[in-house]
Amino acid sequence: MPSGNVIRGSRIGGAPERPTERYEPAPRRAVTYWCRNDHATEIRLALDAEEPAVWDCPRCGLPAGQDAQNPPGRTRPEPYKTHLAYVKERRTPEEGEALLAEALAALRRRRGRE
Ligand SMILES: [Zn+2]
Repeated sequence: MPSGNVIRGSRIGGAPERPTERYEPAPRRAVTYWCRNDHATEIRLALDAEEPAVWDCPRCGLPAGQDAQNPPGRTRPEPYKTHLAYVKERRTPEEGEALLAEALAALRRRRGRE
């Protein structure tokens, strides 16, 4: 026998039941955090709540941030770099130009033969 209705007692008083604030969902927004293991965690915050900069990933425990491309973490403190950035780090622009010219020449030779 369910006893939940007995506690509220809306029928006893006969007064129309008014929704109390407790049952109204507060307006919320979703904020997603990413950890280094590509785990996305969506948390819901009240509209006026300040979003934390870092959220612990519930799956692996690593700190997660809102930038999917640059999640916080202890393993790699330097900012995320593109592949091109790494290439540029290893080679000077001149070397890059030479490599590009070489590749283009090879491509043209191959095409010329066809
Ligand atoms: Zn994780």
